[in-house]
Amino acid sequence: MLQQSIIAELRDIVGAANVLTNPEDIFLYEYDASMDFGTPDAIVLPGTAQEVSEVVKLAGRENIPFTARGAATNLSGGAIAVRGGLMLSTTRLNRIVEIDIPNQRIIVEPGIFNLDVQKALAPYGYLYAPDPASQKVSTMGGNVGENSGGPHCLKYGVTTNHVLGLEVVLPNGEIIELGGKALDTPGYDLVGLFVGSEGTLGIVTRLTLRIIRQPEAIKTMLVVFPSLESAGQAVSDIIAAGIIPATLEMMDNLIIRAIEKAICAGYPVDAEAVLIVELDGLRDDQDRMAGEIMQLCDRAGAQNVRIAQTQQERDQLWAGRRGAFGAVGSIRPNYLVCDGTVPRTMLPDVLRRVSQVGEEYGVLIGNVFHAGDGNLHPLILFDARNEEEVARVREAALEILKVCVEAGGTITGEHGVGVEKLVGMKLMFSDADLQAMAWVKDVFDPQGLANPDKVLPPTPEAA
Ligand SMILES: Cc1cc2nc3c(=O)[nH]c(=O)nc-3n(C[C@H](O)[C@H](O)[C@H](O)COP(=O)(O)OP(=O)(O)OC[C@H]3O[C@@H](n4cnc5c(N)ncnc54)[C@H](O)[C@@H]3O)c2cc1C
Repeated sequence: MLQQSIIAELRDIVGAANVLTNPEDIFLYEYDASMDFGTPDAIVLPGTAQEVSEVVKLAGRENIPFTARGAATNLSGGAIAVRGGLMLSTTRLNRIVEIDIPNQRIIVEPGIFNLDVQKALAPYGYLYAPDPASQKVSTMGGNVGENSGGPHCLKYGVTTNHVLGLEVVLPNGEIIELGGKALDTPGYDLVGLFVGSEGTLGIVTRLTLRIIRQPEAIKTMLVVFPSLESAGQAVSDIIAAGIIPATLEMMDNLIIRAIEKAICAGYPVDAEAVLIVELDGLRDDQDRMAGEIMQLCDRAGAQNVRIAQTQQERDQLWAGRRGAFGAVGSIRPNYLVCDGTVPRTMLPDVLRRVSQVGEEYGVLIGNVFHAGDGNLHPLILFDARNEEEVARVREAALEILKVCVEAGGTITGEHGVGVEKLVGMKLMFSDADLQAMAWVKDVFDPQGLANPDKVLPPTPEAA
């Protein structure tokens, strides 16, 4: 509980309407898209970087933890207030500061939705490449916090490859500028450090982003396979042949059926697996590349290929993929998304192991993922009201992460560590590795108030 005098100070800084303390409001900020919960003491909605700075200084003076929050769509518990304190929502920081077409840059505030950035750029014939499936609602601050990926990141790279500059409020309240419109800022790459730091090193209040021209032509194909393994083989073969499509997204039968029930995207419900392969770039090159891809898919056992003939058909194929997580609600009320990344050649083996894990733990698993990046998203479906089932789901999720690490992969491709993957960090890193990361955290946040208990597992003493 915060003292009334502190709440009054917060109201002075951001305005009375922008401090929420009613139980009904607090309840709405207790969760994100993961399975974890945490109750903040107050929600604060600053409207400028200066206000963020003053709130953070007050938090430091009173030793109150604070957690930055965009749209709370992250899937690892990153935006929950584990130790209570202040929830700093970026909802009001949602302006476009500048669109600079000659230099191919856009400057935005962190609370803007990814899709609104795309909409602002479209009239100029430009786009911002990273496109998480949640782009309709996820914010640019959250995308930076998690170093988000998306279907088009196979060809264009993830968030970190497109963020050139950041304005950050440090945990001591100081406002600093990192990077900017120009390339190659001298000194340490602190922009790189902040991207993916999950709000544990400070709060981003402004972003300078690289933008690119929209492609001249796009070709979207739906390729149908008789098994998940054969689809995995096709992905591995396409990349091995030196072809980098804009996207290579895979879905299995469980997911296809859920999508058709909820969204009607036109996927064949009897297919064991489908791939959405999208090519973008110059018109001239596309037929040749599509032909090569079809040959490789045929060789891997593809049963059928459909090429979208109209923009409407293309949008419909993508609506299915982007709506896949929500669609599984038609099968079970809850899901946990695992987010391992493996070398692409390991995809067929790892997919087989994932389905074995499902059998061993008696849980239902669907697969929908950025296959071209080797970024798996096994969705474990369950009912959160059944505690025994929840325990099995958590064990199965950990087992899947172990499978990914054993295959030479990682415990998260794009959804971050948050609180959910703290155990997983120990699967990947030695004590010395983790200590080096803890030093970085200490340098920026010696009081440990910025989104505490995230990313780094507690030391044995603290545990
Ligand atoms: C249906 C669905 C589909 C998804 N698809 C994808 C996908 O394709 N690719 C992908 O990568 N992810 C995906 N996600 C996960 C999620 O949408 C992303 O992680 C997204 O970037 C989170 O944005 P957000 O605004 O919701 O951030 P939040 O969840 O609010 O926050 C995420 C993290 O960033 C920190 N943070 C937020 N704002 C700031 C700030 N201004 N400064 C510093 N730290 C900050 C938070 O403290 C937290 O640690 C999906 C989620 C859902 C529910």
